Amino acid sequence: METLRPDWPLLLVTSLSLVATLAFTLAFPMAMGAVFDLVRAQGGLAGGAAAPTAAAVGPFSHGAMAAPTSFQGVLLRLGACMVLSATGNALVAYLSTLLGERFGHRLKGRLMQIIMAQEQSFFDSTTKGDLVSRLTLDVQVLQATVADFIGLRGFRSLFEVLGALCLMCTQQPLLALVSLAITPLLSRLLRAVVVRSSAIIFRRQQVAAKALDFASERLSQVQTVQVFAQQEREAAAFAQLSEGALVLSRKYAFFQGIVEGTGRLAVNVGTMSLLGLGGMLVIQNKISVGALLAVNMLNVFISVGLSSAAASLGELGKAVGALERVAELVAPSQAAASAGSSEAASSSSETASSSGCSGSNGAGPSVLDGSSTSSTSSSRSTPTVAAAAQPEASISGRVELRDVWFKYPGAADWAVRGLNLTLLPGQTVALVGPSGGGKSTIAALLLGLYRPQRGEILVDGAPLPAAGEGGRGAAAVGMAAVLQQPMLMSGSVTQQISYGKPEASHAEILAAARAAHAEEFVQQLPQGYDTEVGERGHALSGGQKQRLAIARALLLQPKVLVLDEVTSALDVTSERYINDTLRHLAATKLIIAHRLSMVRRADLIVVVEGGQVVEAGSREQLLAMPDGIYRRFVSTAELGWVEGGLSD
Ligand code: ADP
Repeated sequence: METLRPDWPLLLVTSLSLVATLAFTLAFPMAMGAVFDLVRAQGGLAGGAAAPTAAAVGPFSHGAMAAPTSFQGVLLRLGACMVLSATGNALVAYLSTLLGERFGHRLKGRLMQIIMAQEQSFFDSTTKGDLVSRLTLDVQVLQATVADFIGLRGFRSLFEVLGALCLMCTQQPLLALVSLAITPLLSRLLRAVVVRSSAIIFRRQQVAAKALDFASERLSQVQTVQVFAQQEREAAAFAQLSEGALVLSRKYAFFQGIVEGTGRLAVNVGTMSLLGLGGMLVIQNKISVGALLAVNMLNVFISVGLSSAAASLGELGKAVGALERVAELVAPSQAAASAGSSEAASSSSETASSSGCSGSNGAGPSVLDGSSTSSTSSSRSTPTVAAAAQPEASISGRVELRDVWFKYPGAADWAVRGLNLTLLPGQTVALVGPSGGGKSTIAALLLGLYRPQRGEILVDGAPLPAAGEGGRGAAAVGMAAVLQQPMLMSGSVTQQISYGKPEASHAEILAAARAAHAEEFVQQLPQGYDTEVGERGHALSGGQKQRLAIARALLLQPKVLVLDEVTSALDVTSERYINDTLRHLAATKLIIAHRLSMVRRADLIVVVEGGQVVEAGSREQLLAMPDGIYRRFVSTAELGWVEGGLSD
């Protein structure tokens, strides 16, 4: 409804056109009856019953419209009704289709906005195919329903039925009784059919969405499908899923057939009954032939209108299903908000025990704040560290994670448990540790992609906004990131680099590309910076994509930069170059690295295992620890998680 509100002037014009069109449409049978009676009165139709008296000329002897007495006059009236009704119908169809389209357009935009504002956990639990089907299929259904219901069939048919019934009742009450007797029977039958078919349509939509979901997932993974030679199996599985929709469509078609058939039957039964009763009245000279004809036509309007309204209601059933699916997109944000507040409420009661929790298990180190500490320790004693060459604490870019606890939605265990970590302005902090230890989760939390269930994350003393929250996110507080698998969106190289700052000057883009060691390869592309890359563009290697992603982050001149295994796809020269750039970057850096070359120069190395900090300190400090985990991993062949770093 809210989405329709901006179009109220159009809605008003459509409604007025609809009413006017209805008036002309309903006037048509009467005009036709008038022609008939005049022809008969003037001797065109001889024989049978006596010609009606002058007073009976016109379809209804006491008709609302003054009956013209000349043949040209009645013909003109008939012609005017026809033209105006046709024009009105065309106008209503145009306006209501336009309304539907505008509604769909606005709804799609709004939904995209809502989807984009969701938290990462929402995307973890929803497939892209499902979202796409809501954005496309469901919105299409809704926009078609708006058009259909407002102008094409729904309201129009209902008004037509009501108008025709009223007209009949006021003009020929006896004949109207016939129609009134048939109408409830017909509408009851149609209602039963509509209820059944709506349920079928809803189920069919769910099945169709599942098939679409399946197709979009498999198509996005087509390389894997082909490498494992599973094309036929996947195609067969898709066909099977679509088959489910087909079976339901068959049932739906059956009910559509019943609607059609019942409608026709009603028209015929009504016509027969009216002709029987009306014919008798004509013979008794109680009504004119024209009146009988007009009543008969009005009855056709009623029957056709009813089955048309029923079909429209059937579509409405479809729309209800679509609306439910679309509404679900709006609900999670509200649900998340309330869940957030209840989490917050429960966290306050649990916070007291949480500190005890990290302390009691002996593995939860407390604050890793370089500013307040001077020695290295492992998890067995509270790790504290003095990072080499501490930058000024007053510079912005201070990030604090305070007793952060995070569990993925639906997961049984905490991915991050009671984490305390402070990144001082300008400091480079490297997170290392075994796979699954929680490094990427910490980075995601730091970027606001997930909200911790307990604890808080502060950037320069202010709480970190959740990604998507009112269009804000990490970038709004001067953070940028280069993630493990940099995805490029369709667009030119320039657009890739300037993604976070579309208004960036060419000079800024060039500087960022140079800093990310991307300039050389970009210049060799067919159209240089204008080359289309990304989804359907020029294919780039993993390392090239990585460098564009780094340039994209550097362009923002962030005060905090999060780098998740950025050098994994880089060649040695690029890596060295980028390391050099990063070293000179005046930003706080959180690095998740597998290569020791990245870790080595960090001011603070934090070993993360089981979602906790188990060891922290400068490289020298960690290597100096006799039984240190870092030292053990670096100096032995167990170095599974510091890939390629056997010799530090
Ligand atoms: P690392 O980066 O150190 O390899 P992660 O942060 O990726 O570790 O993973 C930490 C834990 O969280 C693992 O147990 C992993 O299985 C789990 N995990 C990671 N991502 C998700 C997710 N999207 N949904 C549920 N669990 C996840």
